[in-house]
Amino acid sequence: MFKGVGDCPALRIFAVGKKAGFGGCLKENVGFFLMKNNSISRVLVTLLVLCAPFVSCHQGTANPDEKDLTPSDMSSLLDTSVRGEVSLRQPVSVTEILSRRQIPVLCYHRIRPWTESDGRIAKDNVIPPYLFKAHMRILADSGYHSILPDDLLDHLEYGDALPDKPVMITFDDGSIGQYDIGIPTLESHGFRGVFFIMTIATGRKGYMSAAQLKEMSDRGHLIASHTWDHHSVLTYDSAAWKVQLAGSVKTLEGITGKPVRYFAYPFGLWSPAAFPYLRASGMRGAFILATKRDTTDPLMTLRRINVPGYWNEKAMLQNLKRSFR
Ligand SMILES: [Zn+2]
Repeated sequence: MFKGVGDCPALRIFAVGKKAGFGGCLKENVGFFLMKNNSISRVLVTLLVLCAPFVSCHQGTANPDEKDLTPSDMSSLLDTSVRGEVSLRQPVSVTEILSRRQIPVLCYHRIRPWTESDGRIAKDNVIPPYLFKAHMRILADSGYHSILPDDLLDHLEYGDALPDKPVMITFDDGSIGQYDIGIPTLESHGFRGVFFIMTIATGRKGYMSAAQLKEMSDRGHLIASHTWDHHSVLTYDSAAWKVQLAGSVKTLEGITGKPVRYFAYPFGLWSPAAFPYLRASGMRGAFILATKRDTTDPLMTLRRINVPGYWNEKAMLQNLKRSFR
């Protein structure tokens, strides 16, 4: 399964994870999770490797003297002038939401040519530009229409109509190819994308700048939160929530001038313990990867499939149809 990882530091995850279970840092948690769930483990290892420069085992956010932050304190940290009114419409029941057909949501990471050092693991999350363009072209030629999270949530919660053959196209982390290649390709087909940004990387080499995020938002794409530094939510104490969620939301709202109401869990790892913090921060929806939804709060566990860079356009389409029924 992990052939080809070689001397990748991610292998060390297993050793520490074995000892620590879910109690310690992100790397330990991921290790434990990988042992439990082999079917998506390779994707998780890749995500960890890609994001390794931003992840450390030092939370650095807990301060024993600081008053504990409760979920209900979260909204007080955010700027109400940006956030506006929440809908007063009555949502349908959870049972009805779960009974609705799932709408396909694709998840891409880096868009750039492969390099010689890219192994199978890297290729899970790096798609060459020509292939990304082919993916978008086949979606358009097959009659798909891109939707944004508000379209999806209005459909799930209130039964609002969606266009024929809806698809959501999402991108994680904020690497620069998403702007250079992703935006013009999406727009050439009239598509709009959803960009989950880890704000620590904004403006760094290889990542999109604040000005680029603002431009994308102004052009109708959606900018949303992927935490501050990509730690898994499974590790958060209340102080970490303040930094990772409220901090990233505030930063992004400062850049775009628009409310951030959507979140993607780093590595797709989630826990019901996250829901109160997400809800209290005004999140309408939170996105996982291809694991099962939570049956009590499915809007906090909206499914996506990670699109590896070695799926040709037909394979992407087949997987899209197979995974969302
Ligand atoms: Zn990520």
